[in-house]
Amino acid sequence: MRVADLPLAPEHVEHFEREGIEELYPPQAAAVEAGVCDGDNVVAAVPTASGKTFVAELALLTADGPGLYVCPLRALAREKFEEFDRLPGVDAGISTGDYDSAASELAGNDIVVATSEKVDSAIRNGAGWVDDLACVVVDEVHLLGAAGRGPTLEVTLATLRRRTPAVQIVALSATVDNPEDIADWLDAELVESTWRPVDLRVGVHAADAVEFDDGTTLSVPVDADDPSTDADTEVTAALVRGAVEDGGQALAFVSSRREAEALAERLRDERLADAVDTADSTSDAASVAEELREAGGTETGSRLAEAADRGVAFHHAGLSSDQRALVERAFRERRLAVICATPTLAAGVNVPARRVVVRDQQRYTGEGTEWLPVLEVHQMCGRAGRPHLDPYGEAVLVADDEDGREALWNRYVTADPERVESKLRDRAALRTHTLALVATGFAGSQAAVLDALSGTFYASRTANPDLGGAVGDAIASLIDDGMLEAGEGKAKGSAGGNGGTGDTGSGIEATDLGAQVSRQYVTPETGVRIVERLEAVAGMNDADVTELTAFEVICDTPDMVDTYLGNAERAEIYQFARAHSAELTTGMTDAEDFEGWLESVKTARILSEWVDGASVEELVAAYRIGPGDLESRIERAEWLLGAAEALADVVGVSMPTLSSARAKL
Ligand code: ADP
Repeated sequence: MRVADLPLAPEHVEHFEREGIEELYPPQAAAVEAGVCDGDNVVAAVPTASGKTFVAELALLTADGPGLYVCPLRALAREKFEEFDRLPGVDAGISTGDYDSAASELAGNDIVVATSEKVDSAIRNGAGWVDDLACVVVDEVHLLGAAGRGPTLEVTLATLRRRTPAVQIVALSATVDNPEDIADWLDAELVESTWRPVDLRVGVHAADAVEFDDGTTLSVPVDADDPSTDADTEVTAALVRGAVEDGGQALAFVSSRREAEALAERLRDERLADAVDTADSTSDAASVAEELREAGGTETGSRLAEAADRGVAFHHAGLSSDQRALVERAFRERRLAVICATPTLAAGVNVPARRVVVRDQQRYTGEGTEWLPVLEVHQMCGRAGRPHLDPYGEAVLVADDEDGREALWNRYVTADPERVESKLRDRAALRTHTLALVATGFAGSQAAVLDALSGTFYASRTANPDLGGAVGDAIASLIDDGMLEAGEGKAKGSAGGNGGTGDTGSGIEATDLGAQVSRQYVTPETGVRIVERLEAVAGMNDADVTELTAFEVICDTPDMVDTYLGNAERAEIYQFARAHSAELTTGMTDAEDFEGWLESVKTARILSEWVDGASVEELVAAYRIGPGDLESRIERAEWLLGAAEALADVVGVSMPTLSSARAKL
């Protein structure tokens, strides 16, 4: 099937041909046959790099009105936005600052790229553009199975479909075990394929050789007698070196940030920079190092630049978003030979490599180690093989010995990925979405909430969904928290009752507090905690209410990220809390979860030093966090301080330091 034969405008056909897309890949042709250009719902479960973006573009360009592209990650959203914005005659918009509320500026775009949280927030805030959509494309739809984000995605899609029943839904998924369930839910045609533009072989290394699933073997002897080295690391180094000497690039996955940096350090001696096959000799590894040095002066940044100088980078959530973006781009431009990464890169942006080495297949949790999900390891492996550059891609899992080889083979090489299952039954998720449905006027009784949830993935997957009890509990707890109350059965809310069923069962409506919690996009639990602290502030001396107080109000909430508190630091933070006890809303003996509270005091302290003028370098060094950790906390603080201001208004507490702290972030 040729692009020229599709129902596209001539300038779009030319655009795709210029990008090298003339003949459709088989999964793309299957999506066209399934009706992606005819307004039909389609679920495509296909491997990485099989051309999902083009399928999305076909749906968006042939739709009879504005389109929405829902994407889980912000870095990815940016990439897609830039791609859509290049389409001739198309105005694209992007909305990814997950937590701000105004979204009216997006009306008038042909294509909006947004995270599911942002779409959910836009619905809660009554943004009109969501009702005008003709087509919604959902990328990485298998994230339906992720706690927290999954329920948001399924409730948002159910709401969009109910508000605009004719909207076309195109869902793109990694290869999962039950894509037919997702297709069933969305009344969609399923396109399932394992076709890849570049062949992939997957194998396990043990006893000096890789055995691949295509029956071939590769000898990789290592001298691991030296007790100062770790055998798995030496194998990884040898596999990486082999790929680079062969003119390829490699990705190495390890379990933690520390391991990623240590591996990059170990690879420095491999002289990989000399072997990097740069497309342009003026733009080499040294220039990447230079750009990284210019991007920021933290200690992490200098270590990263030093490694990049030798053709190696590390990549993890502790890096700032600029640093991560620079590393990803340089790797795509083949100015780096290797990235040593934590598993987060697996689901991230497009960084294909000749060879992927999965050195660690387990990760640490609070309590110990656990095996990585099969889907995640498959996504890592799927990164191998760069179209047009590599004859094939190779993914290698590193095992300790023959027993380990068999175990990894069974667990990951021949195994199917996990099934995608709904996480909507979770109490926190149900509270959040019940409140939102009532506050937006979409549901005015328990029966109407249940009716709204009947369009979710959860309901379609469960023969007898029986959410009644769980939703009843959610409503009762929200009434206890002062967010819902008995009412007319038609809640007030910015969406003006749009889509409400107006049933006459025992009515509920959102209180001002509940409406504001929903609109500010914080979880009900965060709302409760903030209100409790604001009430404590009302009893404090004005002089004691500082910006540190403002940060404490927002940091001990589920919507703020936890900051790790090591043993060595604990005593110091304890002393800090004592010294500042007059400024804190929680007494040293009052915290229900003392350790959790102490961690939040650490976060509050970091943020208050930041607004007092401390530099990124100073904070990174003093608190042993990465620049990326600081960045994410600042961003959340900005959102949560705004939410706290709105809630302070509702409960009638005056706290000027909320806005002064926010202004200084
Ligand atoms: P993914 O499925 O991982 O989202 P992409 O949509 O990013 O994959 O596509 C991977 C690469 O393949 C892109 O560089 C894209 O331009 C290219 N591509 C997609 N479809 C075709 C095609 N039909 N012919 C040639 N190249 C294609």
